[in-house]
Formats: sequence, structure tokens, C-alpha cells
Amino acid sequence: MGFPHTEPMTSFWLSAAGDLADHRTTETLPEEADVAIIGSGYSGAATVFHLLADANSGSRPSTVILEARQVCSGATGRNGGHLKPDTYWSAAESYKKYGAETALDLIKFESQQVMDVKQLVEEENIDCDFELTRAIDVITDQETANSVLRTHKEIRSKGFRFSDDLHVIADPKKAERVSGVKGAKIAVSFTAGSIWPYKMVTHLLRRSLEMGANLQTNTPVQAVARDADGRWRLTTSRGDLLAKKVVVASNAYTAALFSEFKEKIVPVRGVVCRIAVPESTARKPPHLNNTYAIRFNPEHFDYLIPKTDGSIVVGGADRCATEKQSFWYGNTNDSELIPETEKYFTNYMQRMFSGWEDSQAGITDIWSGVMGWSSDSMPFVGRLPGQTGIFITAGFTGHGMPRILGCSKALAELVKSDGETDDLSRKYGLPKPYLLTTERLSSKDGDILSYGRKDSADVRSKL
Ligand SMILES: Cc1cc2nc3c(=O)[nH]c(=O)nc-3n(C[C@H](O)[C@H](O)[C@H](O)COP(=O)(O)OP(=O)(O)OC[C@H]3O[C@@H](n4cnc5c(N)ncnc54)[C@H](O)[C@@H]3O)c2cc1C
Repeated sequence: MGFPHTEPMTSFWLSAAGDLADHRTTETLPEEADVAIIGSGYSGAATVFHLLADANSGSRPSTVILEARQVCSGATGRNGGHLKPDTYWSAAESYKKYGAETALDLIKFESQQVMDVKQLVEEENIDCDFELTRAIDVITDQETANSVLRTHKEIRSKGFRFSDDLHVIADPKKAERVSGVKGAKIAVSFTAGSIWPYKMVTHLLRRSLEMGANLQTNTPVQAVARDADGRWRLTTSRGDLLAKKVVVASNAYTAALFSEFKEKIVPVRGVVCRIAVPESTARKPPHLNNTYAIRFNPEHFDYLIPKTDGSIVVGGADRCATEKQSFWYGNTNDSELIPETEKYFTNYMQRMFSGWEDSQAGITDIWSGVMGWSSDSMPFVGRLPGQTGIFITAGFTGHGMPRILGCSKALAELVKSDGETDDLSRKYGLPKPYLLTTERLSSKDGDILSYGRKDSADVRSKL
């Protein structure tokens, strides 16, 4: 459950790695900073960007970003690039657990993220392959399809109102035709996005460097402790840094620095690949305009993100992972694949989609990555209880793309104002279940280990 693995395998997205990969703004580590940020993934980059961009140039804090490995080489550099809000799948469970108002807040927050990322990309003119799409969730198992339709009818009858953007196709023949997925029982579609996360994050980091940030890659933080003068001492492999405030954006690896998060944020390994059709294929398969999830039962699913170059990024294969707990749970080894996943993705498009049988589509790249699953599937965002000056944003549970921008923007406000965690929801619009509270940290509940077990039918899927 420790620190980032030293020699990760590369992902397709990291093929865009440029001069920032091993960047060190200064040759030696600065001795002090107003704010130190641990982690250069989406969370770290978006937080430092908002800390600097939302301040007047005269009042910008001095910031140092510490990254254990190359820039953005954690989950953000190796995910699926699916910016997909959870608009319906977890609704009934959230309704039961948090009530109608909060369940709706969770859906609205994630849906708004799609538009907020679009706006950021446009305003900042970010070259990151952003596309606004419709996500089609296809359920291929009749029992699961019936359960979704039944629970949604139940909460609708109690007055819960799903977004008008949600479109449900309950007729199997139509679902199969609209989605192209063989054996579809129902299909549910809604607005989503796709993105090249590494390109977006490195753009935000470059802009932050222009605004004065100092980035230090290949510099793992080994410990964080209160110093005699009240500041925080960050011990690294290259010396110490003293900071007034610390933003912890280390996601899966948070418990290695803050033991409060043991079993609250657990590293979970996943696998993603890129599939393409060879130039030589005579009859090209149908172009896919939408992004997809194919759900085989309440837990297991794959997700597909077609790129404008005709290739398709496919993630999932989690049935291979759950064969053995050590393949996924607590596994931080992103230098290796989960056994059998390459076999699983071989001929994937031919098996799943009509019209792809003779496409000769094959894997061009395959890689693994480490997610930070939280014990209740919600991220932990806020001030570390009982401490001043430590701020956390982590535990995105394989579902960070439609959450992180809003969390980082709100956390940047909290860091600047030295406010209380409650402010995140009262003033800055974060859903209440995201807040880092003592209750959540001390709760004995946890559904991570039941993942993949046959008797855990109502455990929420993580994406
Ligand atoms: C295989 C896979 C597929 C995924 N697919 C999707 C998807 O399609 N859609 C979606 O929404 N989400 C997806 N996710 C989840 C998504 O990638 C994450 O939620 C998101 O990237 C988390 O961003 P982050 O910045 O919080 O964490 P990360 O990107 O993991 O960044 C944390 C950084 O902190 C650094 N770090 C850790 N400890 C230390 C330390 N002690 N000192 C210095 N640096 C440290 C790490 O090296 C890392 O770079 C996927 C994740 C994986 C692994």
C-alpha cells in the first residue's frame, strides 16, 4: 500500500510526453514555500492552477509541486479518458443512503463538470482532443436491466426527477440497433465527454509554471511532519521543504503518508488498452460516434472511448482482476499487466460490436494503472481533521474525470481562505458526501473488499 512504483509501464497517453516529463524548475529543491502540492496528476495540477489563476498576480502564493515519478505518470496518465458523469447508475443507491436532494446534487455536480471542462478547454485553448459526446451504457444481462428499470421506477414514483438529458431505450432490439452492441438488453444515453487527460494536465502545469509555480519531478515525499516553527516539513529524497500549507493530491498513495487513510483509500490496479483497425483492412467497420459502457452484471463492465483517429481506448476486463484479490486490491505495481487481460481484449471489438467481425481490429497498446478507491466510493476533499494547514483531495475511485476539476477549484478556495471543510459545500458547491469528515474517517463501513464477490450484487460499480 506504499509509494508509487519506481518503474511504471508506459501508456498510450504518455506517448505525448514532452519536455515537462522530468522537469525541475530549479536544480535544487526550494527550501520553503507558502503551499506545497504533493502529486502532479489532475488533482494536483488543477488545484495549483486555480490557486494561482484565481488570485491577483501580486497576491499569488509561492507554490512547489512535488511529484514522485515523471510528471502526471499516475492514474491520470494511464486512464481511459472518459469524462462520464454518473447520471443514473448509482441514483437509487444514493437516494437510499443520502436522500433525494443529495442524490440529485451528486448527479448535477458530475454533469456540470462536463460543461466546466469544455469551458476550461475553450478558454485556455487546450489541445487535448476534447470531444463532447453521448455516453451509451449498454446492459447485456436481463436481470440487471430489469433491476435498473425497477429501482428507477420506484424512486421516480417518490418524486425523484432524473435529468431531461437521460434517454432510456428499454426495447432490446432497438437498444442493439442504436448501440451496435451484440446482445444489448437496454441502452441508456446521456451527455458526456472524452479527453486526452495527460495533455490537459500538462497544459495546466505549464500555465502554473508561467504564473510562478516550481515543479520538482522524481522527488517522492517520504514524510510530512509539523516543524518547531509551526510550518510543515516535507522530507524528500532530495532534502526537506518547509511549507505553511500542504495540498495532498497523491490519490491511491495517500495512506503511505497519512495513516488515517489506511483502508479508507486503497490502491486498486486496473488495465486499459488501445485498439485500432489496420490500414490494410479492406472493409472498414462502422465508425463509433459515442462513448460506451458495456455492463455484464451489477459489478462487471468495460468502457470504450472512440478517438477521432479511429482507434478505441477500452478499459475494464475487471473479471480477470477479481480472479485473485492480490491482482487488484492494494496492488501498486503498474509495471505489469493483470494476468489474462491481454487475452481478454484480443478480438474484443469483433466479439462485442456488429459490423466489426472482419475488421482485424487489434491491440496497439496495453497498460495498467493504479486507482485510489475510497471505502464509500466518494472522494475525500477538505482539511485533514484535527490539523491546520493540511488539505486533501483524493480517493476518486476510478471515477475522477467528472469530479476533479470542481473539487480542485473548491479546495483551492479553501486553502486560500484557510476555511473549514463545510465551506466546500456551503460556499463552493461540492456535494456533501465528498467532504472529509471525522465520521467518514472513523466509519467501519467499507465495500471495497466485497468487490467481485457473487453475493455483492448491490455494490456500486466504480465508474
Ligand atoms: C486504468 C485506469 C483507468 C481509469 N479510467 C478512468 C476513466 O475513463 N474515467 C474516469 O473518470 N476516471 C478513470 N480513472 C480514474 C482517474 O484516472 C483518476 O480518478 C484520476 O486520474 C485521479 O487523479 P489524481 O490527480 O487524484 O491522481 P493521480 O493521477 O494518480 O496523481 C497522483 C500523483 O501523486 C504522485 N504521488 C503519490 N505519492 C507521492 C509522494 N509520496 N510524493 C510525491 N508524489 C506522489 C503520484 O506519482 C501521481 O503522479 C482510471 C484510472 C485508472 C488507473
